[in-house]
Amino acid sequence: MALRKEYDVVIVGAGVLGSAIAYELSMTFGGSIAVIEKENGAGLHTSTRNTGVIHRPFYLEPEKKKLFAESSQISYRMWKALAVSFNLPWKENGTLEIATRETDLKSIDSYAKWAISNGMQEEEFKILGSSELKGHEPLVKGYGAILSITDSCVDFGSFTSRIMELAKSNGVEFIPGSRVTGAIETPGGILITAENEGQKIAVKAGFMINCSGGDSLPLAHKMHLAKKYAVLHFRGDYWMVGDSYPGNIRNNVYTVPKHKKFPFLDPHFILRVDGRRELGPNAALVATPYDYSDQPDSGSLVIKLLERPTLPKIKLLTNSEFISLVRSEWKSSRSKDEMARRVREFIPGLDTSYISGKGLSGVRNSLIDSGGFVPEAVMESSDHSIHILNYNSPGATGAPAFAMHVIRLLNESGKVQLKELSSIQTSVWKEEVGSLL
Ligand SMILES: Cc1cc2nc3c(=O)[nH]c(=O)nc-3n(C[C@H](O)[C@H](O)[C@H](O)COP(=O)(O)OP(=O)(O)OC[C@H]3O[C@@H](n4cnc5c(N)ncnc54)[C@H](O)[C@@H]3O)c2cc1C
Repeated sequence: MALRKEYDVVIVGAGVLGSAIAYELSMTFGGSIAVIEKENGAGLHTSTRNTGVIHRPFYLEPEKKKLFAESSQISYRMWKALAVSFNLPWKENGTLEIATRETDLKSIDSYAKWAISNGMQEEEFKILGSSELKGHEPLVKGYGAILSITDSCVDFGSFTSRIMELAKSNGVEFIPGSRVTGAIETPGGILITAENEGQKIAVKAGFMINCSGGDSLPLAHKMHLAKKYAVLHFRGDYWMVGDSYPGNIRNNVYTVPKHKKFPFLDPHFILRVDGRRELGPNAALVATPYDYSDQPDSGSLVIKLLERPTLPKIKLLTNSEFISLVRSEWKSSRSKDEMARRVREFIPGLDTSYISGKGLSGVRNSLIDSGGFVPEAVMESSDHSIHILNYNSPGATGAPAFAMHVIRLLNESGKVQLKELSSIQTSVWKEEVGSLL
């Protein structure tokens, strides 16, 4: 096994979170930093394969989703600064979240309160009754809605590669094409093993930050951490709306979720930053974080469901509501008729004939424990490692501030000691990151 250089900090995974941590550490930490990524570039999985919406935090319950709400609020201006500095596309399309049932109006009222509690300005959103909704977006129907005016459409993949480039120019070493296979604590640090083009390599680090998305929990388990959790992978598929659809819908259109305790959001009408229009995502249960194929791999899924710990999974698999949702979510992966039928609940004129093909799918990695789905991100630590688990939506929106939160925790616990804001960087995020010191 070839032993590579030793680093003070190694980050596993160059998704949006690992890249943001790398960039922010490169400004504040004097030691050596490396990012190990199994693909040949940054952000090629969930961080590219998502809906591409900068979510404003109106829909995040301030107590239950505190960390994500705060992260989204702070990160909004950080992403905007990056987009302006590097001329990355940003479209303030706004999002309508519709009450498709009369009972959903209660949620819309709560959203208005949560928006303010989470720091949004009053002029950033509007509450619409059903006739105002018709006036605003005539092709959309509902009992009412909240319009979040500052929700914006971006390409998180290009944001991720940009911040990784900035990190690299600040001296971070990017080690692509290397899949981390394990890590063990040693007296002064951690020994990380990886595979690169069939060759085994070992990397020593003072500290490891595990941001490997769908692989974060298996790596934590290898270090005997987070044993009470299991992870389920849900693929979100998108269908493209072709140019033949004449409707001019100006906002993203979401609906109040019907099944709040499960991660089955109903599909949305999405405006992509490049002008494409899509429907989705659904949430099809798949065996791995990288299962983008149309055919369900039932064999691997059964093996996955039997992996330990089984208790959280047994509870879910004996829940008839969950099983029936799993079945019906698969239908809208296979059938555009089914996806169009679901969307017609709030856009009645959207016939199947307007759907031109499949978009790019992405996989959500949801943690479960014996209480069911875990609502927020989870961080588990050992002496020389921290593992970020369950980092789901609005994770791309919140990444710059969430990364600061992780760095602050590490600094406060003395695990990674920050020095001073380096003077060699571009000015992007300098003010926010400077507050860490
Ligand atoms: C369908 C869908 C729609 C979404 N829409 C939105 C949205 O509109 N707005 C929003 O804010 N959020 C959205 N999200 C959530 C957001 O995309 C994620 O929270 C975010 O991208 C997670 O980033 P990450 O860096 O943790 O993970 P990832 O992007 O998955 O990055 C993990 C990285 O680790 C690498 N890796 C994995 N295992 C290893 C290993 N063993 N060794 C080395 N490298 C490894 C992977 O190759 C990958 O590059 C959506 C998610 C999904 C699935």
